[in-house]
Amino acid sequence: MENEIKIALIKGDGIGIDVAEAAQAVINRAIEIKQLPKLAYCEIEAGARYYQKTGLDIEPDGEEMAEQCDAILLGAIGLPTVRTSAGTEIMPHLRLRERMDLYAAVRPVRAYSNTPQRLSDPRAAEIDLIILRENTEGLFYTASTSGRLQIANDYEVRETLRITRSNTEKLHRFAFRLARKRKHQGKNALLTCVDKANVFKSMAFFRKIFDEIAMEFPGIETSYNHVDAQALDMVRRPWEFGILVMENIFGDILSDLGGGLVGGMGMAPCAEIGDRNGLFQPSHGTAPDIMGQDLANPLAGILAGSMMLDYLAESRNDQSLADCSTLIDQSIERGFDEGRLRPCESGGDMGTQAITEEVIALINETEA
Ligand code: ATP
Repeated sequence: MENEIKIALIKGDGIGIDVAEAAQAVINRAIEIKQLPKLAYCEIEAGARYYQKTGLDIEPDGEEMAEQCDAILLGAIGLPTVRTSAGTEIMPHLRLRERMDLYAAVRPVRAYSNTPQRLSDPRAAEIDLIILRENTEGLFYTASTSGRLQIANDYEVRETLRITRSNTEKLHRFAFRLARKRKHQGKNALLTCVDKANVFKSMAFFRKIFDEIAMEFPGIETSYNHVDAQALDMVRRPWEFGILVMENIFGDILSDLGGGLVGGMGMAPCAEIGDRNGLFQPSHGTAPDIMGQDLANPLAGILAGSMMLDYLAESRNDQSLADCSTLIDQSIERGFDEGRLRPCESGGDMGTQAITEEVIALINETEA
């Protein structure tokens, strides 16, 4: 069917499988209740388990298949016990990122009610920010599959931090558009450029391009912060921030800190966006320490699924998909407000299955 929405589904390894299935179940229910056509899932095998079986990290043609879909929904990939001959974990998703040029990773950090707050200040309940992480270059440039390692021997290893103008312009434009969207939604739209411009030329360049792009978006409030000060401020006053845009490794580290502030990695969704594709996943990994025990919090995966619907709504100009996304978000919000979502991860009594069922029950009630 021509208008059919095709979703590449990569469940991956460990808890990735459980949370991807949870996200799929919740999305399907929201779509059904809104009486929209079913999504067409194209399941692609990839990850450490698949590598153990076949010697491949993703099925043949898997990358092409993923690229041809309208969006990719991913669980999590990699297991510490399964390594390539170079000693690294199995990471085909890094290649997908690069291939599809998914340059912007959007990572919301949001406090929900009735979840244990790590910070004693009551304003911690207001945390609602987005970490916008550059996703294809920075210090991850040499970690990609293209084998860009410059020096690697037993005496010295060098890796390269790369910032390009073309990519950084796109990233900052994306950041400003996101700020404009948040402003329209009545949310904190302060856009902060997080860098280390006082020390590194690459970071001064990153900031310079931020300033250039800012000229195109009058009316958006901006600020700067050095990454070390930002780490401090994430603990001292996170409720004052709206969007934080930053280089890849800084975003990698600060988004875990963000997840920790609001109940753990199971609360941290991620959308990786390029000009033509989007990949949606929880920010966490495969969590081998808890896999197979029904302990994983599936909400990051479910919220990533909701971000996927919002992305599809924008790219297809289809408000009904945005309504599905809102339905999922509001059901989760209400679930926390009413004390009906209590993930084990943050000291509650609900595992993967129970949380998923409760979110679906909340969706059913909202629309009843
Ligand atoms: P990666 O580098 O692939 O992101 P990681 O080494 O950062 O992986 P994770 O797999 O994200 O590690 O796990 C970090 C910690 O958070 C582990 O203790 C894990 O059990 C916990 N964790 C991660 N995701 C969840 C989740 N959805 N629910 C509960 N706990 C989780």
